[in-house]
Amino acid sequence: MESSLTFLLLPVGFPGEVLVTLARRAREAMPFPSLWLASTDPLEPPIEAYSWERMQFDAEKVNEHIHSVLYDYVREGIRIIGVVDADGYIPGFNFVFGLASTALGVATVYTRRLKTGGNGLYMERLLKEVLHEAGHLLGLDHCSNRECVMSFSRSVEEVDRKAPLFCSSCKAKLVLKYGSRGQ
Ligand SMILES: [Zn+2]
Ligand SMILES: [Zn+2]
Repeated sequence: MESSLTFLLLPVGFPGEVLVTLARRAREAMPFPSLWLASTDPLEPPIEAYSWERMQFDAEKVNEHIHSVLYDYVREGIRIIGVVDADGYIPGFNFVFGLASTALGVATVYTRRLKTGGNGLYMERLLKEVLHEAGHLLGLDHCSNRECVMSFSRSVEEVDRKAPLFCSSCKAKLVLKYGSRGQ
């Protein structure tokens, strides 16, 4: 059993100061000890992953790019969550709020559609989507509990409906796999 897990929040295409606060809140929401780092060194968005026609980033390509650029971190077992200040998609979907490539240990969250409210609301949504992708990186699937952070969101309204927390069932799965906080 792994005793501690490390996540790196990486700003893509913006300064990313908000990620410091986000990292602290994400750590507090995890049901086991984890370390959350916030990079202050933004990554340039990979232009080859951008669709000029759709004006969106191909999330799979962005994850692959982050994996190759930060491979030294990935190799150490650090899970990376890129926060991309743009819109994202995967083939077959109009857009995605985020995408986890579990085999790569990399996920991304796309901010464009989360910014329709005030700054406080934006931070709450961003926290939920970061926790959601972290859950995927830890092996969780989507949850049928609409209030659970692991429920699938088709719209920003559905993001607002869920809490920035794992439900007791998802929490139990994580604790079983990664140990409980304080052990
Ligand atoms: Zn998901
Ligand atoms: Zn759940």
